[in-house]
Amino acid sequence: MSLQNKNIIVTGASSGIGEATAKTLAKAGANVVLTARRTDRLKELKDTIEKDGGKALVITADVTSKDDWKDVIEQTHKTFGKVDVLVNNAGLMPLSFIENLKVDEWDKMVDVNIKGVLNGVASVVPDMKEQKSGHIINISSVAGRKIMPAGAVYCATKYAVRALSEGIRLEMGPKYNTKVTSIEPGFVSTELTDTITDEDVKDMMSQFEDLTPLQAQDIADSIYYALTQPEHSSVNEILIRPTNQE
Ligand code: NDP
Repeated sequence: MSLQNKNIIVTGASSGIGEATAKTLAKAGANVVLTARRTDRLKELKDTIEKDGGKALVITADVTSKDDWKDVIEQTHKTFGKVDVLVNNAGLMPLSFIENLKVDEWDKMVDVNIKGVLNGVASVVPDMKEQKSGHIINISSVAGRKIMPAGAVYCATKYAVRALSEGIRLEMGPKYNTKVTSIEPGFVSTELTDTITDEDVKDMMSQFEDLTPLQAQDIADSIYYALTQPEHSSVNEILIRPTNQE
């Protein structure tokens, strides 16, 4: 399936996987809507995409804000038309040991990684119902399949994203011809670990030093694959790890 002139919203487009995905999809001819909180980064990305001949719209938005989502949908409709694809990518990973009681960080992870994803789904489902087509890509993780120490809450959010993806697929696939894909990366070299504040976890992270991590582009390529399969083929899950990750 071609992405030419498809209208695609990418959350968390200001860095890492979201940024690489937006570039890749724009190069394939999609109109990309770049959302995140850091407007300066989004503007730089828009410039890069437009220099390469692509089309992009910047909308500063926090995925936890329903008002921001309303704005994202209104501006997308005005500039490009109906939403064809949502890449629900924004997320945080402040890993911590439960006994260190980083309760505010637990709340933030639930708000961004679960409620943020749901806000996105609620915002695009009306267009997909009306068009009887669409594709929702949710970024889960290997952490949505395997629980790790210091990851109780993060893993819970990523298990939730996988469960939501399958639940939404079951309803929206048969009735509204809408595809849902859960992307489940292992360790990817991005800014994600910058949100870790628990000193005990920072020590633990040294065990990943020998890994050859995935690059954000590897995940963008997986997303591109899922989005470009023929109409009748719905890629439900992609699990992708660095070759030397356990
Ligand atoms: P980055 O830290 O590079 O990107 C995270 C993105 O999320 C940023 O663009 C950030 O933008 C955005 N974001 C965070 N909070 C909010 C918010 N409240 N509202 C809107 N945007 C927000 O990390 P990655 O690219 O690695 O992460 C992308 C996704 O991939 C996440 O869901 C992560 O859990 C998942 N993942 C990552 C893995 C890895 O090893 N890196 C492995 C498996 C899954 P801004 O700060 O500008 O708002």
